[in-house]
Amino acid sequence: MAHIPTATVSRLVTYLRILTDLEEADVKRTSSDLLAEEAQVSAFQVRKDLAYFGRFGTRGAGYSVPTLRRELRRILGLTRPWNVAIMGMGRLGQALADYPNFDQYDFILKASFDSDPAKVGRHIGGVDVYAVEELDARVAERNIDIAFLTVPASAAQEAADRLAAAGVRGILNFAPTVITVPEGSFVEPVDFVAGLKRLAYYLQGPGERAKVGS
Ligand code: NAD
Repeated sequence: MAHIPTATVSRLVTYLRILTDLEEADVKRTSSDLLAEEAQVSAFQVRKDLAYFGRFGTRGAGYSVPTLRRELRRILGLTRPWNVAIMGMGRLGQALADYPNFDQYDFILKASFDSDPAKVGRHIGGVDVYAVEELDARVAERNIDIAFLTVPASAAQEAADRLAAAGVRGILNFAPTVITVPEGSFVEPVDFVAGLKRLAYYLQGPGERAKVGS
């Protein structure tokens, strides 16, 4: 299969969300025009993204909502549950553990880890907190696929290395630093502070915006 651009994968996730909304509203058929409008891309882009994976629609008749939704779930690897752990049970880790809806998306929280002995042994947001020394054993025992990395930035690379060595191949990195992982593993950064900074850039008035070269 051709190399799939990261932006295409992101848009497939958006199309799936739109299709899920359509299915919940009992809509049976849709079109690349409608998907494009909802996803704020062009219809050409929708057709191009889907064409990487085969033919799904019928010219003139559009797409069957349940069929395309099922196909996108299969393409995105969402037809099976994924086991998740949290690395770093501070403020953010605990808030994520408290979030009740991950399993609705088939992401199942199985364990959490922290280097602070005061947190180890506690049960927070429905999940046990283990010592980092137990990582290898617990990851193997609970088949952990994905970790939320919620340690301070200064500890993030080392924690990511430990996760990768234990066999965790997906990391959702909340620490504001770039981390590297071995081949075959994947990192997705989540940075809401970066989002705030982008907003600040757009919200400032024209007079406040620094001129190029000033
Ligand atoms: P916190 O200090 O409350 O919690 C960090 C936790 O990590 C602590 O419980 C600490 O004991 C644990 N820890 C430290 N080193 C560890 C290691 N090597 N292995 C395992 N556990 C370890 O911090 P917080 O406010 O929860 O923030 C956590 C991270 O998330 C920080 O990097 C912060 O900058 C980041 N953050 C990101 C976003 C975002 O949008 N991505 C938002 C807020 C915070």
